[in-house]
Amino acid sequence: MAFDTLAIETHGAVRRILLARPAQRNAQNWQLLDELMAALDQARTDDAIHAVVLGGQGEHFSAGHDLKQAQAERANFTVEQRWAFEELRYFDYSMKIWDFPKPTIAQVQGACVAGGFMIANMCDLVVAGESAYFSDPVGHTLGAAATEVLIHPWVMGARKAKELLFTGARMSAQEAQAIGMVNRVVPDAELADATLALAQQIAKAPPFGLRLIKRSINRTLDAQGLRSALAAHFDTHQLSHLSDGFLSARDRGLASAIQKNPAKAQQ
Ligand code: ZN
Repeated sequence: MAFDTLAIETHGAVRRILLARPAQRNAQNWQLLDELMAALDQARTDDAIHAVVLGGQGEHFSAGHDLKQAQAERANFTVEQRWAFEELRYFDYSMKIWDFPKPTIAQVQGACVAGGFMIANMCDLVVAGESAYFSDPVGHTLGAAATEVLIHPWVMGARKAKELLFTGARMSAQEAQAIGMVNRVVPDAELADATLALAQQIAKAPPFGLRLIKRSINRTLDAQGLRSALAAHFDTHQLSHLSDGFLSARDRGLASAIQKNPAKAQQ
């Protein structure tokens, strides 16, 4: 299958899926998300593929959801329409990455922001280039209750998750590694090779055992309440789309939020 918004590579038993809208900082429009699910389905059913790398072409992993498309196509969605759109493409698709039966590694450089943060952190491991930075500024820029899937406290701890979301600030790759959210940080020039080497090391193991390890670790988090907490937050997030803060951001133009990111002012 040919994709318009993805580039697909196969390296032995590793499938690398690259978001391929570099001129848009790999902003996720709904076409890209639909294609990502199709690419994952292909990797899932191909017995020759034992591990998947998810990365982005160009200088950035992903700046988040495509807010220009959101403004043009969804600014006046009803509650029911927004719920349906975001439940499928943001919540269910994210959980599909989380539940993907083979090991996944996010390969992250540059911006890993909001919707980008969300999908990168649904992967099992994260390898970051030195340029990588992580943020979820939408509480500041859109008046939204974070992104749709509140994976943050599960991958960075409650204290750091609150700091990230309350301030809208960026976390560097080095800090992300120090708190355990990122597995490895490498020079950007080595990012693709280092991530692939890690995936190939993983892919040497018999796939069924890997599948069961992943299942059991994810079930450990489920036993701690991950799945019900994420589902509850999705509902809360929908409420924030009806708030004065969000509606005034919408009326100013959602895409203007890209320029209002408070983290940018810190640079
Ligand atoms: Zn939303």
